[in-house]
Amino acid sequence: MFDDLIREVRQLERRQTISVPLPEDKEGYVDRQCPGAKCKAEFKVLGKDWDSKVANARAYCPVCRNEAPSDDWATPAQVKYVEAVALAHLKRQLHGALESGARQFNQRQRPGLLTFSLSVTPDTTPVFLPRAVGEVMRQRFTCERCQCSYSSIGAAFFCPACGHNSVLTTFVQTLETVRNTVAALPSIRQAMDADPDAAHNAVRLLLEQSMGRLVGAFENYAEELFASVPTAPHAKAKRGSFQRLDEASRLWQEAVGKGYQDLLSPQEMAGLVRFVQQRHLLTHANGIVDADYLTKSADRTYSICQRIVIREADVLTLADLLAKLANALKALSAPPPPQP
Ligand SMILES: [Zn+2]
Ligand SMILES: [Zn+2]
Repeated sequence: MFDDLIREVRQLERRQTISVPLPEDKEGYVDRQCPGAKCKAEFKVLGKDWDSKVANARAYCPVCRNEAPSDDWATPAQVKYVEAVALAHLKRQLHGALESGARQFNQRQRPGLLTFSLSVTPDTTPVFLPRAVGEVMRQRFTCERCQCSYSSIGAAFFCPACGHNSVLTTFVQTLETVRNTVAALPSIRQAMDADPDAAHNAVRLLLEQSMGRLVGAFENYAEELFASVPTAPHAKAKRGSFQRLDEASRLWQEAVGKGYQDLLSPQEMAGLVRFVQQRHLLTHANGIVDADYLTKSADRTYSICQRIVIREADVLTLADLLAKLANALKALSAPPPPQP
C-alpha cells in the first residue's frame, strides 16, 4: 500500500527543477537585486524584457555593472516566495502525507530544487521608505542600444540586459531624480511621523546619498564627454582624473580652452569645491571633518572631529552647479558649426 508513496519519494530524490514565474507589478516590472556583496542595489526590469533580452546568460547591475548569471538576481522576498511555491509543489506531490519529511527534504536539497540561487543575504543597512515615497523617486530608463526597460530609485548607469553605459543621458536623469527626492522629503517626514528618529535618519541618508549620486554622475559624465572630444589630450586622462576637480579642470582647459573656474563664478567654484570635499568625507571618513577637509574646502563653519550636515538646499545648489558646468562643457565640446 506504500508503493505509490515510495515511488513518489524516489522521484523526489532525483533533483527536479520547477519554474516559478515571478510576480510583476501593475506596470509589468519585476524586482531585481544585485548579488554583488558591496552593492545589493535594487532595481526593476520590465518582465518581458528580462525574459527576452537578458535570456539565460548574464545580466548586469545598472549601478555597479556587476555581471552574474540571470538566475542570481532574486530579492530576499522573491527567494521566500519561490521557496513557498516549491514547498507547495512538494506537498502536492506527496498528497500531504509526508509533509514534515518534505520540509526536511526541502531544507536538505534546496539548491537543486529551485531555479534561483539562495545565496542572497539581506542588505545590512536598509533604508525603509514608505512604498509611495519610493515610487516618487523611481526613475525609468530605456536602453538606447537594446531598448530594455528598467527602473531604479536613484541613479543607474548600465543596461541590465546588455551592460551599455549611458552616462551622458543618465546625468540628466540623475539631476531630475535627486531634485524629485528632495521634493519628496516633506512627505517622507510626514509618512514616518510615528517614528521621528527613523524619519530623521532616512532623510539624512537620502541627502548624503543624493550628494554622492550627483558628484558620481557628473564625474562619469565629464569623463565620457571628454572621451568624445577629438582634440582632447586623451593620453593625459588617467583612471580617476575626473574624480579630482583640479586635474579634471586642467584637462578641460587643454581640450576646449576653458577650465571649471572659467565656467563658474568664484563663489560657485568655492561651493563646488566644498561640496565635492564633503562628499569625499562622507565616502572615506564617515562624514567626520579632518584637517585635510578644512584646508581644501576653506570651510570655516566646522572644526575637526565634527560631522558634516548635508541640508536640502546644499543638494539643490550642487545639482544646479553641476548642471551649469555640464551644459557649458557640452556646448564647448560640440563641433563648430559648418562655415558658410
Ligand atoms: Zn550592483
Ligand atoms: Zn541595453
